[in-house]
Amino acid sequence: MLPHFGTDQLRQRPERPSGGLWKFIRAAKLSQSNALTTPPTQSNIRVSFSFNVRGLLERIRLTDSLGERSMKAVFIQQHGGPEALTYGDRPEPEVGPGEVMLRVRASALNHLDLNLRDGRSYRGTLPRILGCDVAGEVVAASPEVNTGIKVGDRVLLDNRIKCLNCEQCRLGLDQYCTSQQRIGVDLDGGHAEYVTAPARNAYKIPDTMGFTEAAALPIAGHTAWHCLVTQAQIRPWDDVLIQAAGSGVGSMGIQIAKMMGARVITTAGSDWKLDKAKEMGADEVINYRETPNFSDKIREFTDGRGVDLVFDCVGADVWEQSMLALKPGGRLVITGVTSGSRTTMDLSLLQGRPLHLMGSGGRSQRTFADMMKMVHHGALHGIVGRVFPLEEVSQAHRTMEDRDFFGKLVIES
Ligand SMILES: [Zn+2]
Repeated sequence: MLPHFGTDQLRQRPERPSGGLWKFIRAAKLSQSNALTTPPTQSNIRVSFSFNVRGLLERIRLTDSLGERSMKAVFIQQHGGPEALTYGDRPEPEVGPGEVMLRVRASALNHLDLNLRDGRSYRGTLPRILGCDVAGEVVAASPEVNTGIKVGDRVLLDNRIKCLNCEQCRLGLDQYCTSQQRIGVDLDGGHAEYVTAPARNAYKIPDTMGFTEAAALPIAGHTAWHCLVTQAQIRPWDDVLIQAAGSGVGSMGIQIAKMMGARVITTAGSDWKLDKAKEMGADEVINYRETPNFSDKIREFTDGRGVDLVFDCVGADVWEQSMLALKPGGRLVITGVTSGSRTTMDLSLLQGRPLHLMGSGGRSQRTFADMMKMVHHGALHGIVGRVFPLEEVSQAHRTMEDRDFFGKLVIES
């Protein structure tokens, strides 16, 4: 796939003394002049020109004294509270072999961001730009890109970059890749104007879907899909308990479970969230603040049987009730421990019923592609709780800590 640079327009621009982008563009021009065998059509010229006007003019902006391009981003230089998030200038990323560059339009928060910010889940170098969920338009592509993704495409990113070389990857078990890196964790993320990623991590979004909705999908959708479909193998006749309806994975879990034909019982800590869950198709709802022993309520809803499957992203606070809510032979899959990771457990329940307990763990490229197929079929939607501008990521973190929202918190940039 040839990069869609308009060579005529580029030729008229002055060469820059430094900057990876310009080196890359020069390489792209060379590649085009060597490889282009058919003259461009009128429509190709139009596409190239519109890219140059929108893409290049947008990036010829802030330039430091060394000629290095900078961009606005939100990053951590030291760990701490929301005040540790800095809105300022960072160098624009460079497009590496096989990579694309996105003009980020939206990026979503995850609970993980709080742990990265305060240092609980981060051992890497600083500064680091946060933002694991990213959607935007492709503004540059390396000449090696051959995945069908091209400049101008509207995409979202799978933030898990697998090595494809380790033993697990070679066995087709890339969810267990021993060398994977995550955008927004090990690599700079999407709370910025630009981000780069391997082209194979970019997935086109439906023409009718906005970037803000798209940014709400990747991690929550992938996690819920992986847990319910791949791990727990949800079935149409299952009664399913989905904890925390208002969370990102909870709200995606409701959609996926209903899409698969299951009956959904869900919990939340406030009635307005339960009303929203009902709007999304939940069959039964429970306010866990008003009904802390909610396993009794679940037995009422299931004629005394209990549920076939529990999908949990809460952890310690609900563990005992989750176990008591399961019917004999029931399955539980856990993907988050936001309320704590240590609890006691009645082993006789596990032994006697018997129950099947599963963890989420890594997620594969295959399941991401499966999830995106259902997004294109219109069966799955990103659930946007609140939207913030890029300079207010710290406020979004405070909102995340307060938990008074439904779905995802999305940053527009
Ligand atoms: Zn690997």
